[in-house]
Amino acid sequence: MRYIEPHGHMVSRTTDDYEAMLTAGCAAVCEPAFWAGYDRSGVQGFYDYFCQLTDYEPKRAAKFGLPHFTWLCINPKESEDTALAADVLGIVPEFLERPNVLGIGEIGLNKNTRNEMKVLEQHIDLAMRHGQMILVHTPHLEDKLKGTRLIVDLLKADARVQPGRVIIDHVEEHTIQHVLDAGFWAGITLYPESKTTPPRAIDMFEVYGGQSVWLNSACDWGRSDPLAVPKTALEMRRRGHSDATIDALIYGNPIRFLSQNPRFHLR
Ligand SMILES: [Zn+2]
Repeated sequence: MRYIEPHGHMVSRTTDDYEAMLTAGCAAVCEPAFWAGYDRSGVQGFYDYFCQLTDYEPKRAAKFGLPHFTWLCINPKESEDTALAADVLGIVPEFLERPNVLGIGEIGLNKNTRNEMKVLEQHIDLAMRHGQMILVHTPHLEDKLKGTRLIVDLLKADARVQPGRVIIDHVEEHTIQHVLDAGFWAGITLYPESKTTPPRAIDMFEVYGGQSVWLNSACDWGRSDPLAVPKTALEMRRRGHSDATIDALIYGNPIRFLSQNPRFHLR
């Protein structure tokens, strides 16, 4: 088996996780900037985090022979502080030319507030001005449907945005169709609780098809499984899906989307 982990928060994982992913067939890992589990006290905290994502973590992954890529932004949770968000948006461009940066993400909404919307709009503008791809986080549980609609509307309102260069992540049964109909890619996040379990993800794949869909584990500091993608592949095999179908979903699709940025490459 071979696969890409297109959304893994590796700064919160151990070297044992890297080894397990490699052993399971991981060929590359991509790490969007996110909330660290605490609110950072100022822009310097983000500067250090962006250095970690573009310098230290790719070196750590390289020790295991694993290519590591990243996406940069201020996450929606901390975007509630619009003054801090402005400062962080100000330092993002100086990191965009670093060799493992794929685009702007994971931006989006958390509680669908007015401030989050404003900062999301600023991120989209930043991405367009710098010709960047976008990775979007959608809100949790009861906020997800409304938040997904708001995000899709905001992206559609900017004529510069090419939907095929945007992935909207953490889709669920009630949001995937809306995302795909609008021409965006959809990410299905596999979590032991919340988001999507492997059987639900495969159900969605069987109902909506997998043309513009990727699977990810989002493995972070919370209860999550860095091997969720290969384990889901095993479950697909058990259900009778062919190896070619599985390979296209967990390896071919992420490569097809990510290769729109020429920086993305395998070993
Ligand atoms: Zn994430």
